Amino acid sequence: QSLFNNVPLAPVDPILGVSNAYKQCTAAKKVDISVGAYRDENGKPYVLKCVFEAEKRLLGAPKEYLPIDGIPEFNKVSAKLLYGDAMNGKEKNMVTVQTLSGTGAVRIGIIFVRKYLPAGTTVYISNPSWANHHNICKESGVPSAQYTYYDPKTRGLNFEGMIADMKAAPNGSVFVLHLCAHNPTGVDPTKEQWNVIADVMKSKNHIPFVDCAYQGYASGDLDNDAYSARLFLSRGFEMFSAQSYSKNFGLYGERAGALTIVSHNEKNIPLILSQVKMDIRAMYSSPPTHGARIVATVLQDPELTKLWIDELKGMSNRIKYVRQKLLDALVARNVPGTWNHIVDQIGMFTYTGLNPKQVEVLVQKYNIYLLASGRVSLAGLNDHNIDYVADAIKDAVT
Ligand code: PMP
Repeated sequence: QSLFNNVPLAPVDPILGVSNAYKQCTAAKKVDISVGAYRDENGKPYVLKCVFEAEKRLLGAPKEYLPIDGIPEFNKVSAKLLYGDAMNGKEKNMVTVQTLSGTGAVRIGIIFVRKYLPAGTTVYISNPSWANHHNICKESGVPSAQYTYYDPKTRGLNFEGMIADMKAAPNGSVFVLHLCAHNPTGVDPTKEQWNVIADVMKSKNHIPFVDCAYQGYASGDLDNDAYSARLFLSRGFEMFSAQSYSKNFGLYGERAGALTIVSHNEKNIPLILSQVKMDIRAMYSSPPTHGARIVATVLQDPELTKLWIDELKGMSNRIKYVRQKLLDALVARNVPGTWNHIVDQIGMFTYTGLNPKQVEVLVQKYNIYLLASGRVSLAGLNDHNIDYVADAIKDAVT
């Protein structure tokens, strides 16, 4: 007998579960295109040179506790990186705190929504989205709903559906929007569409919650990728943003991220900060030092920043290269169906349109691990495995 006999088995995380299955697979030929982590052209994890250089400089740095809200310079460079010139004197209306990466930023922000937005405020999440958005709302006790996003027929954006859902939502709802490189679909609104989204959000007093996990990964250009967040700020929204340095700095396990809250009334800023700090204190007391120090070191040094931008371009170009190679390989094999969406989509992922049965063939017969939704993390592809994957896809769909 045990007090814990009633503990049910929780469902396996849809992403991490697949990645673990890959690790346990003993087949000689196997491919991991599940988890959204960058791999180089030989399929190996990659430590950025700018990170390596920053780490050399940081060797022996004190291991003291950080302030509850993290390293002030890190918070400053983070806000600047995302919002750039759109800040334009709005610094006094913004507060940024260091968080446990992007997940932590979303979590702290959503808790703030529950505590300080009107009771019952619903958080709208794109359909589909990164599954953790739903987990976080559920665990934080915040009502959530989905808004139309992806159109399986066109494998692009269902813009009319998205706008209709925004109009139908109660005024003052929170909309979680992916800054760029939408996970899992790789489908982003155009700049024109972002402007219409901002118009509709404004007319409904909706609150943007911009999740920024891939700045620099979509186009390879940090400013271009930040378009939507800067648009919302310059259009005068009260808003949230959650930044992650997992992908663009390759700092996955270091847990470096930032939450920014923007208020119309600058008098609210110290009060907001006080509440956010109280939540952080009760949850994990203070954030980790190393990753945020790396980011602050790089972004405060023009030469390291330049090196970072070059490396980021290199990573995003390699992903564009494998997109084209995969498309070419499928076309060369006359694989039934249309596959252009692979190059039309953007960022780390392609939403292939493969159905769960076809995915099952890839996993079981070929040891190619991807999500049941058909999402492929392109970083796992390279010249050594693309033909193998294309052959397998041909088998699975024919
Ligand atoms: N949001 C989205 C959309 C993501 O894809 C991710 C990373 N998978 C995150 C947030 C947060 O990741 P992390 O906690 O590693 O920064």
